[in-house]
Amino acid sequence: MTYLPLTEPQQHWRDTARDVATREVGPRAAATDSERAFPRQSLAALRDAGLWKLRVGAADGGVGADLLTTCLVVEEIAKKCPSTGMCYKMHVEASELIARMPSDAQRQGVLKGIVDGKVFCTVAGGETSGKGDDWVPGMQLSAVEKTPAGYRLDGIRKSYVTSAGEATHYFMLCRVGADAKPNQLTALLVEADRIDWQTLEPWHGLGMRGNNSMPMRFSGLVPEANRIGDEHAGLKYLGAVMMPVVALTYGAAYLGVAAGAYEIACVEAAKRHPSGARRLDNAINQRRMAELSARIEAARALLHVAAAAGDAGQVQAPLPYLQAKVTCSEAAVFVTQELMTMFGGTAFAARLPFERYFRDARAGMIMGLANDDAYQTIFGMLFPEPKK
Ligand SMILES: Cc1cc2nc3c(=O)[nH]c(=O)nc-3n(C[C@H](O)[C@H](O)[C@H](O)COP(=O)(O)OP(=O)(O)OC[C@H]3O[C@@H](n4cnc5c(N)ncnc54)[C@H](O)[C@@H]3O)c2cc1C
Repeated sequence: MTYLPLTEPQQHWRDTARDVATREVGPRAAATDSERAFPRQSLAALRDAGLWKLRVGAADGGVGADLLTTCLVVEEIAKKCPSTGMCYKMHVEASELIARMPSDAQRQGVLKGIVDGKVFCTVAGGETSGKGDDWVPGMQLSAVEKTPAGYRLDGIRKSYVTSAGEATHYFMLCRVGADAKPNQLTALLVEADRIDWQTLEPWHGLGMRGNNSMPMRFSGLVPEANRIGDEHAGLKYLGAVMMPVVALTYGAAYLGVAAGAYEIACVEAAKRHPSGARRLDNAINQRRMAELSARIEAARALLHVAAAAGDAGQVQAPLPYLQAKVTCSEAAVFVTQELMTMFGGTAFAARLPFERYFRDARAGMIMGLANDDAYQTIFGMLFPEPKK
């Protein structure tokens, strides 16, 4: 269902995404997962359909898609292949800031590269404070040194970089100077072919297996021209400029996981087995399928309304975006878990793709702003500390 009347461009881009996802992305999804293969061809098909430039403004040669269109597109791709949907979502997220506020040089360079299908971005965000996965409550991003030749990255380790080793550009928040406070972040776009980088270990995730979400290390100089916006102002941009697309595309990707699995369930449950029985003839399954549809539609309705409200300039704080993110990712976990039960041994033995969607869905709980973290933020917005 789509609850809001869609404009002609919104319908066009949703249908374009649905078409390319059905023809090109879906047929490769099982192999992408089982071979842990980066979905290069599927992403190239999205590029050829004009989707890499979705969020670049029309004046710069892009589609200029609004938030609702962006959600519709990401959902369609994730429905057919969550791994491809996530790599694509990360490109959209990573290119958001540069698409919104490029310098003139960036407009002629990297933005044109996105439009021409030569630049594919990702986010090199999360770090641990130590050398490996040693956990600390609250992350402090690495400091880079400012030199006359640019910002020096001295072996910065990023923990989970989707499209690692495949992206041409890495969006990175860092601190400039060791004295910079944890909230004084600076946004850089790091070009893969102008810096030393290495992937540190293979990606063997439970789900999202086609993502290449490996740890990486970066060393070298990033020219000052690759800074987006002002030094130390990254957190402000993250909240005011990036947050809508970051949170909503997480929501859309995990809504796609739920809806993609459910669509397959509708077909499989209606199949008549040699015994003459159908899973849909069972009263428990009838109730289950009805309940799952309600969960999906509730998540979709919130996602679309939050996106449309954002497009209309009616959202002052990211509350509805985060609420949509947690609702959609939890819907994905619930729906796929129930389908694992409903399809029994056939699902467990991976003779139907539900276990793939089930594994992919789990990432939604911990990705981006992990849901527990997002709930803390939501709580903070609902119950702000009184001003002293
Ligand atoms: C498939 C996949 C792809 C990814 N791709 C990228 C990418 O492209 N770029 C990128 O930068 N990162 C990426 N990540 C990282 C992701 O966004 C999270 O940062 C990461 O999964 C969190 O793992 P962690 O071990 O650091 O979690 P932790 O921060 O240790 O969180 C684990 C748990 O601790 C609790 N917790 C932690 N902090 C808080 C808090 N403040 N409030 C309440 N509870 C809290 C929560 O229960 C949380 O689930 C990816 C992760 C996955 C799984």
